Amino acid sequence: MAIIAMKFGGTSVADLDRIRHVAGLVKREVERGNKVAVVVSAMAGETNKLVGWTNEAARPPVEGIPMEGSGGKVLQPIPDQREYDVVVASGEQVTSGLLAITLNAMGVKARSWLGWQVPIETSAVHGSARIEGVPAFEMKRAIEGGEVAVVAGFQGVAPGHRISTLGRGGSDTSAVAVAAGIQAARCDIYTDVDGVYTTDPRIVPKARRLEKIAFEEMLEMASLGAKVLQTRSVEIAMLHRVPTRVLSTFTPDVGGTLLCDEEDIVEKKPVTGIAYSRDEAKITLHKIPDRPGIAASIFGPLADAGVNVDMIVQNVSEDGKKTDLTFTVSRSELARALAAIEKHAAAIGYRDVTHAADVAKVSIIGIGMRAHPGVAQMMFRTLSDKGINIQVISTSEIKVSVLIAEEYVELAVRALHSAYELDAA
Ligand code: ADP
Ligand code: ASP
Ligand code: MG
Repeated sequence: MAIIAMKFGGTSVADLDRIRHVAGLVKREVERGNKVAVVVSAMAGETNKLVGWTNEAARPPVEGIPMEGSGGKVLQPIPDQREYDVVVASGEQVTSGLLAITLNAMGVKARSWLGWQVPIETSAVHGSARIEGVPAFEMKRAIEGGEVAVVAGFQGVAPGHRISTLGRGGSDTSAVAVAAGIQAARCDIYTDVDGVYTTDPRIVPKARRLEKIAFEEMLEMASLGAKVLQTRSVEIAMLHRVPTRVLSTFTPDVGGTLLCDEEDIVEKKPVTGIAYSRDEAKITLHKIPDRPGIAASIFGPLADAGVNVDMIVQNVSEDGKKTDLTFTVSRSELARALAAIEKHAAAIGYRDVTHAADVAKVSIIGIGMRAHPGVAQMMFRTLSDKGINIQVISTSEIKVSVLIAEEYVELAVRALHSAYELDAA
């Protein structure tokens, strides 16, 4: 008899009918003789609504007044992140209670567990807290005693007993961390697709389901935009060796993808998958002095402002004195990044600064890339054949990312998907 962790995402618990369907899947697992911990997301759309409310509540009564330190720009005020967490964590409280009620009504003994009750202990970085431990002794005893534990995903408890949340998509991470914490035999992530595909099946109908994907590849896919799993959940699965599968709530008995070690993948194609992210913005500083220390004078203030810089490219200076530097940040951090740059204009010494938010990042990922030369070249040629201009490039051992105009994202992903022979027959 094993303990199994099951996780259901927003579309899987979108209404009471679907919650009943989910309860049926849990019941089936119990009837197979397993002990079960279920982790649930909020109903689809609920978290977006709650986030919207916190933004509205934070807006000052008079619109259009520049915030202090904004370089004259009207910045969207950021709500107090501790209160943001109190609000946005509530969606999962509702579904955990509803699923527990439904299970009991079906004759399956169950109770809900909120983040602080499990407890899921997190860091104090509200809004995107990291799980630090899951000492779920009482919950594990209840599960072993035959009660299904229905855990509210996405939420935890920060130092000082304040509610925290794990960043968007964080219920995946709750599930894998709970599975590790109670030594579950496996963690099944049920969602609205029947596994991890070569790329987002919503934009490439010819995408193929992967039977298995290496942890390292899934980490890159997730962090480069494939939202089927939150990046941190893959890290925890890899670190704690939690056998993790992605399955469909609606067709639970077919398909599925298993996360595994690199060694378990026999056929290593040069490219396993393609990811894209529209959450990108580009900033260019024109005519900055080409001297030692210039990068530090730019990226220091950005780091201090809490801005994460992703891709960077510095042009060769024609005269040895002045050059241009381009970097990318997430769209939500664009205004904050510009304000930090403008505040340090004198110290940096640029001529002017331009920015664009109509850009997107497309990435090819594969452990096979290590052994196959010419993989990046094929990407560049494929994009050039489609007339798509590459604005910035960045690479690592198992991925190549390019920044392009957002209007070409789908075209680029489809063209690359065919070029690397990933299309389903
Ligand atoms: P849930 O609410 O169950 O957590 P998400 O919407 O967060 O579901 O994640 C599932 C979605 O991820 C799919 O509907 C799909 O559009 C998207 N997705 C993006 N890239 C991939 C991929 N490579 N494989 C499968 N799904 C992907
Ligand atoms: N409900 C949260 C979100 O929408 C967490 C999750 O679904 O994983 O981000
Ligand atoms: Mg998700």
